Amino acid sequence: MSATTDSLASKTAGELARLLDSREVSSREIAMDCLARVNAADACVGAFLGFDAEDFLRQADAADARRASGVTRGPLDGVPVALKDIISVENQPLTCASKILRGYISPYDATVTRKLREAGALVWGRLNMDEFAMGSSTENSAFQKTRNPWNQNHSPGGSSGGSAAAVAAGFTPLSLGTDTGGSIRQPAAHCGVVGIKPTYGRVSRYGVAAFASSLDQVGPLAHTVGDAALLLQAIAGPDPRDGTALANPVPDYRAGMLTRHAPWKIGIPREYFARGLHAAVAARVQSVVDFYRAQGCSIHEVSLPRTADAVATYYIIATAEASSNLARYDGIRYGHRSTAATDAVDVYALSRAEGFGDEVKRRVILGTYVLSSGYYDAYYVRAQKVRTLIRNDFMRVLNEVDMVLAPVSPTPPERLGEKSGDVLAQYLGDVYTIPVSLAGLPGISVPCGFVEGLPVGFQLIGKPLDEETLLAAAHAFEEAHDFAARRPVLAAR
Ligand code: GLN
Repeated sequence: MSATTDSLASKTAGELARLLDSREVSSREIAMDCLARVNAADACVGAFLGFDAEDFLRQADAADARRASGVTRGPLDGVPVALKDIISVENQPLTCASKILRGYISPYDATVTRKLREAGALVWGRLNMDEFAMGSSTENSAFQKTRNPWNQNHSPGGSSGGSAAAVAAGFTPLSLGTDTGGSIRQPAAHCGVVGIKPTYGRVSRYGVAAFASSLDQVGPLAHTVGDAALLLQAIAGPDPRDGTALANPVPDYRAGMLTRHAPWKIGIPREYFARGLHAAVAARVQSVVDFYRAQGCSIHEVSLPRTADAVATYYIIATAEASSNLARYDGIRYGHRSTAATDAVDVYALSRAEGFGDEVKRRVILGTYVLSSGYYDAYYVRAQKVRTLIRNDFMRVLNEVDMVLAPVSPTPPERLGEKSGDVLAQYLGDVYTIPVSLAGLPGISVPCGFVEGLPVGFQLIGKPLDEETLLAAAHAFEEAHDFAARRPVLAAR
């Protein structure tokens, strides 16, 4: 037990819903506690880029008024959800942790934001991230570093590092992140919380600043699998404003989580337990395999032979899409405009040179290169073909098993600055999450222990739109362990 477990802000959404229903607490008390916790302790974490306290409390009061008049909107009514600063909230700043969007105010709500409001959730906070979600340590934010709540000398992971750290630190029971190549799952693992990257298309991307449109997905971060299921329920579903949002009806995720049971057939990909996997992380993941075996699940060694090609494939496709998506930040339409410009071309060139950080520039240059005539076929078209092969490998394996079990990250959370000079080492850290993104499959990251005081997670990868089986299996593991109840003690810095 740590000091933080007493506070409302560090409780699970499920617990808060019960307390709200029994009138033991009000939404305003919960919101006040979140604000108090952030004001007292975010100086040592750096999860939030900002928040509008007045707006937050107004939403809480409205939720309390609804409850008092006997109408509630379901289990998230009155429960705070903080958002990665890549998701639009009407009349609030949206920076994507980039100087290029400084001063920009969203004129509308993203679909996920609107859906959260319809569910009664209190939408609050702008959470730190790697600039335009490019990175895996949150150190690429133009504004501040986020620290791992379990050990502040270490990174929380990224790019949704603020989203994972804010939940882990007990600042908000729930948050949303985005995942293009691992950016929900990896920070969730590093901060000891649950994170879901839904099937590509399960959640609308409307109003979410685009990084790589064929990969980007919004998803929940939470203390428990049940909380993550509730949050996914609120945001999933078709959207006429996003042509890639799938029309399939949304199942009842919590019901699926509770009614599906072991034994399952679980695949263990040989290539994911090869060279480069930290021994202590491997041991934690092996203990998860042992748990499922003891539950009667059958464990099958499987092969995903193109695993080693996935990172290179991703860095062609994701950068190509990013170079196109980020062309809109031209100094004219959004945010930062250079004051040094003397003609129109200078406005574009200088605004972008001043506004983007190094990693974003690197990706725009790489993406422009792979799309240029002469290289398009050699790189971009070939990468698309390899992407299909990677997906085919997964689909073949998922024909034989119900899910695939894997590590999330090959190492425990790195020390801040540890990989700052080595871009390739940063890229290779996503070997276990990127293939799943390229295949468009759902993945969930679940805490499974600690290595030297820092959290480690495991990943379950499922069939398209089969989030329910992943939730059920993750829930079974969570129920048998106490990781979901642990909270870090934040040492004041
Ligand atoms: N770390 C990967 C990258 O830098 C993935 C980021 C993400 O999922 N947004 O692109």
